[in-house]
Amino acid sequence: MNKQKLVLVGNGMAGVRCIEEILKYGSNTFELTIFGSESHVTYNRILLSSVLQGNTSFREITIHNYDWYMKHNIALFTGETVVKIDQEKKVIKTDHDREVIYDKLILATGSLPIVPPIPGVEKEGV
Ligand SMILES: Cc1cc2nc3c(=O)[nH]c(=O)nc-3n(C[C@H](O)[C@H](O)[C@H](O)COP(=O)(O)OP(=O)(O)OC[C@H]3O[C@@H](n4cnc5c(N)ncnc54)[C@H](O)[C@@H]3O)c2cc1C
Repeated sequence: MNKQKLVLVGNGMAGVRCIEEILKYGSNTFELTIFGSESHVTYNRILLSSVLQGNTSFREITIHNYDWYMKHNIALFTGETVVKIDQEKKVIKTDHDREVIYDKLILATGSLPIVPPIPGVEKEGV
């Protein structure tokens, strides 16, 4: 039987948690592809402050390393942003001009916080 193609957009905590559940209940059902704009594997974003403060290494907040993606035959594209979804043709396109067909698509792209209009907030590094 042909596997369904499942594409996850967003390699963050929510999206990858969803993939963990899918693997638990039907690891053979889908051919999995994940796109993440960030250049890293998935990590615990809540602990990011500790890394930036130098108290923890990135490795320690990594949820799954590359081996996990390989073990589950997940095609992982980090540093690659999905820029277009053609719902009729069921194909996504990335900023690397890659096109991938899907049967099922999960969007787990997070959100952007509201930045209050404090003077200087537009400066680089703020
Ligand atoms: C410093 C810090 C501390 C926090 N502390 C807490 C806490 O104590 N408790 C709590 O509940 N929450 C906390 N949060 C919030 C928590 O981290 C988020 O709620 C959680 O990470 C959301 O997960 P997510 O997967 O929905 O989104 P995200 O973590 O934002 O992941 C979405 C991913 O999708 C990627 N993406 C977006 N668009 C595209 C695209 N078009 N193509 C490909 N990839 C894309 C993004 O680059 C990102 O990697 C904290 C956040 C930060 C930054």
